[in-house]
Amino acid sequence: MVFKCQQDSFMREFQSRVLVCEKVSDPNLKNDGDRYEVILEDTILFPEGGGQPCDFGFLNDIPVKQVVRRADKAVHYVEKPLSVGDTVKQTINWERRFDHMQQHSGQHLITAIVDREFKIPTTSWWLGEEVSQIEIESPSFSQEQIQKVEDICNELIRSGKNVTVNARSARGLPNDHVGDIRVINIEDVDNNMCCGTHVSNLSQLQVIKLLHTEKSKRKGNTLLYFLVGNRVLKRLTNCLKNEQQLTVLLKCNPSDHANLVEKLQKNVKSLNKNLQTVLKELASYEADKLKKLVPQPKYYFLHKKEADPDFMNTFIREIANTDIFLFLSVGDEKTTGNIVLYGPERAVGDLGNQISEVLEGKGSGKGNKYQAKVNKMANRKKAEQISGMPSPKAFHVPRGVSKERKDAILNKLSKGIPFNTHTFWQDLPVSQTENDTCVAPPVTQKKEDEAEVGGLEDYMEYHRYLKEVVNALESDPDFRKKLEKADEHEIKSGKIAEELEFVSHHVRTRLDEIKRVELERLKQLMEQKKKLEQPNNSIDEDPLHNHLDHSNPHTFEIEDLKKLIAKTTEDLAEADKLRKEEFKQYELEKEYKKQEKLNHTNGEERATLEKQMKEMEEKHKKHERLHEPGHKAQLEEVWEEQDQMQQDFDPKTFFMLHDIDGNGLWDQEEVKALFIKELDKMYEEMERMRESVYKYMDRNHDGFIDFDEFIYQTKTNEFKEDHGWKALDEQKPYTDEELAEYIRQHHANNK
Ligand SMILES: [Zn+2]
Repeated sequence: MVFKCQQDSFMREFQSRVLVCEKVSDPNLKNDGDRYEVILEDTILFPEGGGQPCDFGFLNDIPVKQVVRRADKAVHYVEKPLSVGDTVKQTINWERRFDHMQQHSGQHLITAIVDREFKIPTTSWWLGEEVSQIEIESPSFSQEQIQKVEDICNELIRSGKNVTVNARSARGLPNDHVGDIRVINIEDVDNNMCCGTHVSNLSQLQVIKLLHTEKSKRKGNTLLYFLVGNRVLKRLTNCLKNEQQLTVLLKCNPSDHANLVEKLQKNVKSLNKNLQTVLKELASYEADKLKKLVPQPKYYFLHKKEADPDFMNTFIREIANTDIFLFLSVGDEKTTGNIVLYGPERAVGDLGNQISEVLEGKGSGKGNKYQAKVNKMANRKKAEQISGMPSPKAFHVPRGVSKERKDAILNKLSKGIPFNTHTFWQDLPVSQTENDTCVAPPVTQKKEDEAEVGGLEDYMEYHRYLKEVVNALESDPDFRKKLEKADEHEIKSGKIAEELEFVSHHVRTRLDEIKRVELERLKQLMEQKKKLEQPNNSIDEDPLHNHLDHSNPHTFEIEDLKKLIAKTTEDLAEADKLRKEEFKQYELEKEYKKQEKLNHTNGEERATLEKQMKEMEEKHKKHERLHEPGHKAQLEEVWEEQDQMQQDFDPKTFFMLHDIDGNGLWDQEEVKALFIKELDKMYEEMERMRESVYKYMDRNHDGFIDFDEFIYQTKTNEFKEDHGWKALDEQKPYTDEELAEYIRQHHANNK
């Protein structure tokens, strides 16, 4: 039958009776909602066919999204059932239909012109959602041919040729053909059999734009793409939008877009090439820096955000030393990147998979090298620790300082350094010549007998016991956490000792053993003492050995820990007090000598001396302002003048630079060394400055500033402020009475 839509393709509404409504359960239905098949007496909704997709619309208010042809019937698929016999109102999605009419009639026209002008027949066509195409029997179709067809088509559209449908019955048609033959006639141009819906005049096509050609899958055929009517406008709107965006981005006229993009691409290429060269040079430079370290470190970590795996390979080639464990990484600081481990075969083999697991990556290794792609670069610090970063406090690996620097420290600072720590500086290895390298021991080697940091042993004879107890306790992860969280009061009052109850059995056993060894040491000490002392001397019950609980010689209990904490705190405070006292004496002596000098001169000489002193004093006052120690302004000065760094202040680099022995901690001497520059101005300030820095940086009061403590401080607002520093001139460590008493005593002694 000929449907209503074919008789009158411009009908947008129609009434028709329901003939059939059946429930279906075809799982291959396109839309989930197509649950009922409805056949009506007639329909304005076109059923898919002849290359034209079906119409969308409504039966009453029920949407139709699929209409198919079955024999001579159109089957509508709907969500809800309709009553057979009822008359329903059909409405059509006209926009979609009219678009299909434009494309379909346009196709007839293009096909007719291609055939007429070039004798090339069309074998099939496709109405796509955005672009349509015809397939023509020709291996190619030139730009000139395209232009000619487009021109003729548009000329015909302008001339407003009629399009008419002639339907007639015919005999001799194939069996599957149902109904009349429809012939679509374009006035003076074409007659074509077709079942589709068409415009009634070519002017309704508005315009035809042929786009481009493409080789068909069928050999010797070509696909020719085209747009008709509203699709041309839509495409133009999109093109203009893109063009505007490009104009904004490229900041040039649309006619220059292509040129500019070409230039940009060339630039990117050459920049990339340059970057590769620079990264290679950077790798060599970084490698040189490592090669010059004396002695050579055991571990070396390097991360470069901008670099690529080539960078790491160049670095490794330059180093060519498998004694150092290299942990190199490139890529984002937090997310994805690449790593390479290189070094002693055993260490690389042991650690490769462990490290890539921590970084949430995958990799493989062979011999001295392990490579991986990782997804969580943020865990790098954790991975570094796995790879054998020396455990804090346990030992340090001196890396050496330049002779100049060592001399400067010894000359300028020795007065300020407590006497008992002079050896630390005197013993620091000095990097001299390039031959003076020391081959690093294997990574896995234990370093139990390393020297102690900070010189505790000099004023705490029980330092080994203290160190072992702390190490044992810190091996218990829970206790360690509690210790980190505890505030100063909880530690100093010994309250933290009660947490010993929750420490694992294994750690408790270890502590018992440590105590037993310590008691044995004390016993031997007492015996030695007895031998040395005169027999008639009464034997002192050594009052100093109260760093553990002697009443219980068998196990390590809360009381032991409390006593150890109390004793340590007391001794540290005592050392601090002694230092302050030494300092005061030094200042008093200076002032005393000054006055003595004045007292032993007369007349003109005295006047000159007084004048000189006054000048000195003035000069001192005019001195460059001292910065608040450990705050940004002060550290920046060190960074620029002492470290000679050209780039902006970088806290990470700064920490590493001033961790002179490279043990991952700033010990007291290293912090003092930060003030060489300040002390050029007034070296006496150093101890007070050190104290001040510890006060606000050493958050867990363990006498060390670790990496986290430092970085934490650099992020506070306080860090950015600089309240200045009150120099000793303005703030004497002694009172006038104390000075008078000092002078009096000296005079008494001299008599
Ligand atoms: Zn057709």
